[in-house]
Amino acid sequence: MAKNKDSKETKKDIPSQSIKWDLSPAPESKGHIKLQDKYDLFINGKWVKPSSGKYFDTTNPATEEKLAEIAYANDADVDKAVKAAREAYTNVWSRMSGAERGKYLFRIARLIQERAREFAVIETLDGGKSIRESRDVDVPLAANHFFYYAGWADKLQYAFPNRKMESLGVAGQIIPWNFPLLMAAWKIAPALACGNTVVLKPAETTSLTCLKLAEIFEEAGLPPGVVNIITGHGDTGAALVNHPDINKIAFTGSTNIGKIIQRAVSGTNKKLTLELGGKSANIIFEDAAIDQAVEGIVNGIFFNQGHVCCAGSRLFVQEGVADEVIQKLKDRMDHLYVGDPMDKNTDIGAINSKEQFDTIKRYVKIGKNEGNEIYESKCEIPSKGYFCRPTLILDVAQSSTLVQEEIFGPVLTVQTFRTVDEVIQKANNTQYGLAAGVWTDKGSKIFNLTTKLRAGVVWANTYNKFDPTSPFGGYKESGFGREGGVHGLESYLK
Ligand code: NAP
Ligand code: MG
Repeated sequence: MAKNKDSKETKKDIPSQSIKWDLSPAPESKGHIKLQDKYDLFINGKWVKPSSGKYFDTTNPATEEKLAEIAYANDADVDKAVKAAREAYTNVWSRMSGAERGKYLFRIARLIQERAREFAVIETLDGGKSIRESRDVDVPLAANHFFYYAGWADKLQYAFPNRKMESLGVAGQIIPWNFPLLMAAWKIAPALACGNTVVLKPAETTSLTCLKLAEIFEEAGLPPGVVNIITGHGDTGAALVNHPDINKIAFTGSTNIGKIIQRAVSGTNKKLTLELGGKSANIIFEDAAIDQAVEGIVNGIFFNQGHVCCAGSRLFVQEGVADEVIQKLKDRMDHLYVGDPMDKNTDIGAINSKEQFDTIKRYVKIGKNEGNEIYESKCEIPSKGYFCRPTLILDVAQSSTLVQEEIFGPVLTVQTFRTVDEVIQKANNTQYGLAAGVWTDKGSKIFNLTTKLRAGVVWANTYNKFDPTSPFGGYKESGFGREGGVHGLESYLK
């Protein structure tokens, strides 16, 4: 390994902290995974052909190569899946004891752990995220969610003392492309623990790990119809939302689609939870541990290509340390590895789709047209596939499109502030309210901000930390309802 020539380069008076190494490639092997050429729908415990006979391709965004063909489910298939879920609910799952349901969930969790490597590789191939992320975050957290809710299945009366809680029935669940397996686990595990059955629709570009999860359901001997996976695009999600025999819709995705769904279920008996977009503030005070904070900013927005709903996409730095933080951030950005998601050294993988790639480029162009100062990392990026350099939008106005709209890419807006009140006002000046980060040495400041920031989650001196025991969800247009923890059970009970 040779040290990069200009790693010692210093800018202004602030010494460069990070060193870039020319690391030898360390690709994860693909030899052990099994992918079929074609995937059918998983309905009533069987793989069934779509009634339209139509399939669509899912590709690897890092190479633009086709991975498999995925079945397109239309209204008739959605109806078949809901009927199977209803039958399984009435005859099997709602009659089973909590302890028995828990056994299935424990089995599923253990099987995910056993096949963790396979799931991580497929998640990375299909979605473009770095193997480090899918291996260390997505897959272990997904297994943990099943373990956690398995434990609750026979203890619901302790979660809600003196209340008689009942399952809802059939849950229709719709998930986005940024954490396919993890979002499926967030939704399926609490629903099953509470005695509901499920019809789940993954996002068009990332259906593979949900289909692999169906293999695990088969292996675990889950009774037919308890979970049905229907893939599709365009109108498949809407067909599920509009099906009359659904009792609950759980949706994670963009705010725009969330609003459409809310309109669609209004006036019906369907219970609804929405986990939507975000534009989360990451706030650095002068008394913070700056190097740690810089690492936290990088983790908050650049890792996972900024494809995180709660990404710390708006940075607020207190004036006294602004130059230092920005310089250190630029250094760190120059030293990030952007490229092959399968390489274990990669920090930032591929953007999930051509569409999302174009969206990010369009926003950066808007930033340029608005006259903002743009800083793009000097790191190399591959010529093929959808890759973005980590980017800063500096000196940007609160009213800028880039500060107000969710970009969902490795693009960070940077604003400065002087006082606590000013930063609270600026941070809350958004339609969203999903998460926030506060970096300071003072506990009192942390408590002050956690009560005043209108965000579902506020992290202190860390960012993007998740645990199945901890509830997650939004304020304002970031949605309503909570997933995770005891709160996550409530959404699946009446
Ligand atoms: P999206 O475009 O809203 O799609 C989400 C899901 O909804 C997909 O499965 C999609 O299917 C489906 N869908 C599309 N139109 C629909 C309709 N009319 N009725 C019902 N379902 C419909 O979101 P995305 O681009 O996949 O994901 C990115 C967004 O998710 C970001 O805004 C991000 O912030 C948000 N997100 C939020 C959280 C959270 O917990 N708050 C977590 C992760 C992501 P097709 O793919 O087939 O179109
Ligand atoms: Mg794909």
